Amino acid sequence: MNKDELRAKCAELKLDTRGVKDVLRKRLKSYYKKQKLMHSAAANGSTDTYFDYICVVDFEATCEENNPPDYLHEIIEFPMVLIDMHTLEIVDSFQQYVKPVVNPQLSEFCVKLTGITQKMVDEAETFHQVLKRAVSWLQEKELGTKYKYTFLTDGSWDMGKFLHTQCKLSCIRYPQFARKWINIRKSYGNFYKVPRTQTKLICMLENLGMQYDGRPHCGLDDSRNIARIAIYMLKDGCQLRVNECLHSGEPRSVPISAPIEGAPAPQTPQKETERII
Ligand code: AMP
Ligand code: MG
Repeated sequence: MNKDELRAKCAELKLDTRGVKDVLRKRLKSYYKKQKLMHSAAANGSTDTYFDYICVVDFEATCEENNPPDYLHEIIEFPMVLIDMHTLEIVDSFQQYVKPVVNPQLSEFCVKLTGITQKMVDEAETFHQVLKRAVSWLQEKELGTKYKYTFLTDGSWDMGKFLHTQCKLSCIRYPQFARKWINIRKSYGNFYKVPRTQTKLICMLENLGMQYDGRPHCGLDDSRNIARIAIYMLKDGCQLRVNECLHSGEPRSVPISAPIEGAPAPQTPQKETERII
């Protein structure tokens, strides 16, 4: 089918008609697959075990125009956006700026890129305090206790580089709840069968027929836009699964055959020194 025929078929089935040809084709394929599954599930009386919530995280960090390979990125914005997997809507968000300690002065480039000013970080709490607030927020939502959830990021840097480095710098034990996550770039590439070059945030949005909403490189806006992509993919029938984990301080792929498991309940961050005592 050509693009017009695919779009006409989507319209006939009352499906979204936005997106490029690959997206439309996948949407139709998923629709038929879902119909088939629904029929067999109804016949078998089986129930779906999946996440109740997905928590999108997109850290912003200190940077230079050309970051040297050994540049120590410190987290300066900690945002989270919560997707309710039953209603497929964004239901809540969290945002705190963080005071950097190693490089307390933001570069001009960093301010321009992220929109985060020197005043915002000067008035912010340290990473340890902000992580505590983030954990309390997750606990209030009863994630990992009453509800099954997992984290989702755009790429592997958020957990694999920014959070890992920051925990080392702040002498905090890397949080157990952030050891596994969904890398949406991978999920997107695999689901819509597109190469890695087409999995940048703006590119994913555009291929789905959407525009970036807000300010690029503002962590909260980035998180919201990543959440919009995730919701779109879920509506297209994609089963977002955990596909990366942190292993010996490095991001590593999780095989798709791994069972679906939620992240553990968030625990109050532990300082490494407190752990030794
Ligand atoms: P992003 O989620 O794309 O906003 O990027 C997260 C962080 O990566 C930023 O806060 C910067 O620390 C770093 N970063 C992103 N893009 C660039 C860039 N073009 N040059 C230098 N650092 C960058
Ligand atoms: Mg960002």
